[in-house]
Amino acid sequence: KRRPLIAGNWKMHTTTAEARDLATAIAGTCVGVDDRDVLLSPPYTVLRDVAECVGRTGIIVAAQNVCWEEKGAYTGEISPVMVRAAGGSAAIVGHSERRQIFLENDEMVNRRLTGALAFGLTVILCIGETLAERESGDTFAVLERQIRKGLAGVGGEAMAGVVIAYEPVWAIGTGKTASKEQAQEAHAFIRGLLAAIYEKDIAEQTRILYGGSVKPANIDEIMAQPDIDGALVGGAALDAQSFGRIITFR
Ligand code: 13P
Repeated sequence: KRRPLIAGNWKMHTTTAEARDLATAIAGTCVGVDDRDVLLSPPYTVLRDVAECVGRTGIIVAAQNVCWEEKGAYTGEISPVMVRAAGGSAAIVGHSERRQIFLENDEMVNRRLTGALAFGLTVILCIGETLAERESGDTFAVLERQIRKGLAGVGGEAMAGVVIAYEPVWAIGTGKTASKEQAQEAHAFIRGLLAAIYEKDIAEQTRILYGGSVKPANIDEIMAQPDIDGALVGGAALDAQSFGRIITFR
C-alpha cells in the first residue's frame, strides 16, 4: 500500500567533495532497490552536486528548509524555485532544530510548507515533542497542535505532496530511540488525526516517517510497525554503509 521512504538528513555536514563522495556511494547501494523511495537532504550549497551524483537513480533530492516566496528581499533564505533549479524536488520543513535553535514557530512552518507545495515541491513536515512535554503528558496535544497549524490551509488534494515525520526531540542525536511501541502509538495518533481533519483515504495514503537515532540495528523493528512508513535518518545517513543497510531494511 504505502511505499516506504527512507530519507537522509545530512544537517550541516559535507563540503562539496564530501557530498559528492557520499552521494555517489549511496547511489551505488541503491542499485536494484525499486520497491521503496530514497531521499537525500544535503545542505543547499551541494544540492546541485548531489542531484548530479545521483543522476537518474530515482533518488529524491531535498532541501533542509525552504522559503515561501519565489524571490525577494529575504536575506539568507532559499526559494522553492531555486531548490528546483538546483535539481531538488522536495524540502523538509519544521525540523526540531529549526524550531528550537532558530525559533521557527508553527505559523512560519506553515508558510514554508504551503509555499513549497505551491511551487510543486514535496514537503516533509517534521513534528515531535520534547522530553519535558512527554514527561508532563502533553505529547498528543503537542503533536495535534503541530499538525493542525502546520497543515493549516492545505486541502485534501494537496496532501499527496506531504509526508509527515514524527521525530521526538529527545530521541534526536541522543542514541535514545523511541521504543517501537512509543513510535507506533504516536504514528497511529497522527494517522487518526489526519483522518479526522481530512478523510480516512487521505490518512491511509499519507506516509509518516519516524526519526530519532535510527540505525542499522533498529531499522527492521521500526519498519515492522503498521503505521511507520519510513525513516528520517540523521547521523547514520552520513555513512554510506550504514545508510545502505537502513535503505535495505527487511
Ligand atoms: P539522528 O538520526 O542523528 O538522531 O537525527 C534524526 C534527525 O533529526 C533527522 O532529521
